[in-house]
Amino acid sequence: AELDTLDIVVLGVILLGSIAYFTKGSLWGKQKDPYAAANNANGMAARPARTRNFVEKMDESGKNCIIFFGSQTGTAEDYASRLAKEGKSRFGLETMIADLEEYDFDAMDTLPSDKVAIFVLATYGEGEPTDNAVEFFEYIKEDGVSFSQGNEDAPLDNLNYVAFGLGNNTYEHYNTMVREVDRLLTKLGAHRIGAAGEGDDGAGTMEEDFLAWKDPMWTALAAHMGLEEREAVYEPIFAISDREGLTAESPEVYVGEPNKMHLQNTAKGPFNAHNPYIAPIAESYELFKVKDRNCIHLEFDISGSTLSYTTGDHIAIWPTNAGEEVDRFLRVTGLADKRGQVISVKALEPTAKVPFPTPTTFDAIVRYHLEICAPVSRQFVSTLAAFAPNEAIQAEMNRLGNDKDYFHEKTGSQLFNIARLLEHVGNGETWNKIPFSAFIEGLNKLQPRYYSISSSSHVQPKKISVTAVVESSVVMGRKDPFRGVATNYLLALKQKQNGDANPSPFGMTYELHGPRNRYDGIHVPVHVRHSNFKLPSDPAKPIIMIGPGTGVAPFRGFVQERAQQAREGANVGRTLLFFGCRKSTEDFMYEDEFAEYKKALGDKFELVTAFSRETSKKVYVQHRLKERAAEVNELLSQKAFFYVCGDAANMAREVNTVLAQIIAEGRGVSEAKAEEIVKNMRAANQYQEDVW
Ligand code: FAD
Repeated sequence: AELDTLDIVVLGVILLGSIAYFTKGSLWGKQKDPYAAANNANGMAARPARTRNFVEKMDESGKNCIIFFGSQTGTAEDYASRLAKEGKSRFGLETMIADLEEYDFDAMDTLPSDKVAIFVLATYGEGEPTDNAVEFFEYIKEDGVSFSQGNEDAPLDNLNYVAFGLGNNTYEHYNTMVREVDRLLTKLGAHRIGAAGEGDDGAGTMEEDFLAWKDPMWTALAAHMGLEEREAVYEPIFAISDREGLTAESPEVYVGEPNKMHLQNTAKGPFNAHNPYIAPIAESYELFKVKDRNCIHLEFDISGSTLSYTTGDHIAIWPTNAGEEVDRFLRVTGLADKRGQVISVKALEPTAKVPFPTPTTFDAIVRYHLEICAPVSRQFVSTLAAFAPNEAIQAEMNRLGNDKDYFHEKTGSQLFNIARLLEHVGNGETWNKIPFSAFIEGLNKLQPRYYSISSSSHVQPKKISVTAVVESSVVMGRKDPFRGVATNYLLALKQKQNGDANPSPFGMTYELHGPRNRYDGIHVPVHVRHSNFKLPSDPAKPIIMIGPGTGVAPFRGFVQERAQQAREGANVGRTLLFFGCRKSTEDFMYEDEFAEYKKALGDKFELVTAFSRETSKKVYVQHRLKERAAEVNELLSQKAFFYVCGDAANMAREVNTVLAQIIAEGRGVSEAKAEEIVKNMRAANQYQEDVW
């Protein structure tokens, strides 16, 4: 049987936006400045209509280096701004960063050859450009692409460029964007300076790949442009000013609200990555039966909002940093006494944007807007060295910043965040010489975390379920274990909902009531992101699902949906779920629920389990899949949909390999041929992944 027409239409639509996850945990949504509108509405001058001609823009603003970013999660954007800062402080380049989406490219052939364009490009999904790079890529890809000065053999002979790509080697189309853009620009006659860099998130070396690439790149660029390196001095991009006369109670002061509507308590849809819905949690409970690990089930009530979802979508949860980490940060930077001080933050550069609404307080910025708990970038350590409390500490910071091996030896196993690192290196000294602007520039915006929705929209359209395992790991030589930002916040919410007046999971406390108590009664800011991970439109189609651990989340929704369809009398196809965990008595989540679904689905549904710690030899889902080779092959030839959810680094890869083996053996074809079949299944969306 072929895919039916409706499926093809649906899949066609899905393919347009096809997603895979190239970075662990953070992919999501365009990283536009969510607060620009709020800032404008907040009294900042609205910007005049902007030119889309970047050459003109550079001319007007006296720039000789433009750094374009193609970014989905903010990392490429962050690298672009770091390059801009470094180019300016070390080489006196007049830099600006630019969102690819905000410019046209037909004037690319007019950029004077004494200027330079830098491209920092993430690859998204199946080798695709990020949302903001689509038009740029289409433009330079076009046959006979036309530029303003006509079309010769080498229309871009004038253009000098530099390129760095962000990719993930666990995906087939590794760094396709930077490779393609580099190839196309060269073909159009442009000249690349230095090597095209490639960062690999799959190997976990993105940051080091970037650092290793940029130094020789700067050398090459300096030689090419005749730049002289100077002593790098920190130049702030943001000006911070005290707002005397305002307090955290003043109605115009943001104390954590994401935008002006939220400040004024008039928030309304559309709810999205710039504007969350403050959703009530209807219910929450623990799924594990052990003391030392937690996995929580939560139900978000979206009935009071314009939000909607379909089975297989993702929900984004906007976390709040733990009070202890906020305190540590403010203490070590010497801001503890000023935490409630109201400040304004203004961009000193017309091309820079303040990443949160102001006026606000130090406390609110650190608690609600900055990713203060994330891994520390070595480059940022170098930047901060200049502001060390004394010379000895400065020397240590410089060594950490400049010596990769030393940095990893000292900090790698410690899971330090920035404040912990400063505390450790500073030996009790306060780092009160660091300008606060350096943190706004050097730390990422606090990112919403994504969760695969674990309910069916057919069964409960107004309630979204989440299945989240709480991140915590013991760190050698550290008193307290590492605690994940969002999941421990969710755990505290669960504890509060279940009767704990002052929840403090593992000693961590949170401002659960939110800014101006708006989250009271157990509310959390969320938005929904539609995904392409979808059931076949015809329930009669067989499906095979591989979901160990929390990878089972979307499949709880899938099976819930098919059980309901069966109850409604639909002809439901074979529904085969492979689930794995450590022990049947510990972390076998939703065991009872699956038994209920089985009652509705009968023999159509089978749950195949792999418990890795019950036998001397570890058994994983891919082993069970192999044991079921004959049936799996048979179902696939009936065009069963094949789904994988969970760990991107190992499991998803191994499942892919095992599936190719099953096909090779089952159909008597070579492994190469079988791999091609799997590839085609992916291209046709018969094989779908939701991995992180
Ligand atoms: P974080 O604080 O973000 O930490 C996460 C990890 O980052 C840590 O374990 C550690 O490895 C590293 N890290 C963080 N800080 C440091 C540091 N200072 N030093 C060194 N390393 C550090 N999760 C689920 O449980 N269920 C789901 O259904 C689910 N679905 C997802 C769907 C998608 C599409 C994606 C992208 C992710 C999904 N996740 C899911 C993962 C989820 O988004 C979060 O990443 C996860 O819950 C951890 O969030 P956290 O804020 O608690 O941890």
